[in-house]
Amino acid sequence: MAIIIDGKAVAQRVRESVKAQVEELKNKGISTTLAVIIVGDDGASRVYVNNKKKACAEVGIISEEYALPASTTQDELLCLIKMLNDRSDVNGILCQLPVPDHIDESAIINAISPAKDVDAFHRSNVGAIMLGDYSFLPCTPAGIMELIKQYDIDVKGKNCVIIGRSNIVGKPMAMLMLHSDATVTVCHSKTKNLKEIVKNADIVIAAVGRAKFVTADMIKEGAVVIDVGINRDENGKLCGDVDYENVMPLTSYITPVPGGVGPMTIATLMQNTVIASKLANAFFTENN
Ligand code: NDP
Repeated sequence: MAIIIDGKAVAQRVRESVKAQVEELKNKGISTTLAVIIVGDDGASRVYVNNKKKACAEVGIISEEYALPASTTQDELLCLIKMLNDRSDVNGILCQLPVPDHIDESAIINAISPAKDVDAFHRSNVGAIMLGDYSFLPCTPAGIMELIKQYDIDVKGKNCVIIGRSNIVGKPMAMLMLHSDATVTVCHSKTKNLKEIVKNADIVIAAVGRAKFVTADMIKEGAVVIDVGINRDENGKLCGDVDYENVMPLTSYITPVPGGVGPMTIATLMQNTVIASKLANAFFTENN
């Protein structure tokens, strides 16, 4: 019988822990601030930014929003990032992606000070993750690792297949699974025999961005299935990359969409912001 991983409940526990840490910092006279930049009027980005601001308010992190018009130039955006990098009272900076086409995403990501890069997208943070010596982990993969930990899912020596190789999810996820001693295979759009590869997996992590891409005939009995996707089905209903209804009965553990990985992403962002605040203030406790 499949265990449905309750991402909402785990995320709530993470947020409570963050709230306590923020309070502890406050008692030492240290405030924690996250600057969120949004360029243009993409509807999904607006929802994500609003959710991040709401989460900040809930845990006591000060959020500053910089909503810039789509016509903002790259130089103007870089100028804002420089100003935020220089401000000692700003602990975390994130620029909601995607940015408009005329702006070089990589230039923006790498302009954010690595010490304030709470998304962990900066090239030095990415390198640190590869070496296993990091301050921040990217929010979605770290959130997934926390779910795996909270549900006591054994990863060591297991066959883990990740579908998707984005810099945000697939690649860092592969690194974290490798650090946890899984045997990792990363699939992408050019992968041959994807079905056979996935069928061999003890743990499947789907980060494809295609509704119901992972079907029951691809899943080994008893596999753990983590669904990162956020899509709309043919009826406009929110769904993941996994054909949940048919896959779920085959699994030992599965994350639903919504209520699985999604809530963990924002909870981890809050945790990363507190870590940035502690690092900036040279205050670090064992239970960071
Ligand atoms: P990207 O579009 O950046 O990457 C998608 C990956 O899927 C690519 O590596 C692509 O391969 C691969 N892919 C596409 N089609 C196929 C195929 N037919 N067979 C095998 N692989 C394929 O997406 P993201 O990683 O940013 O996001 C993935 C999903 O996760 C999206 O639905 C997104 O909305 C969601 N998401 C959810 C988050 C959450 O908090 N729950 C956070 C971040 C993302 P190739 O590289 O060859 O093109």
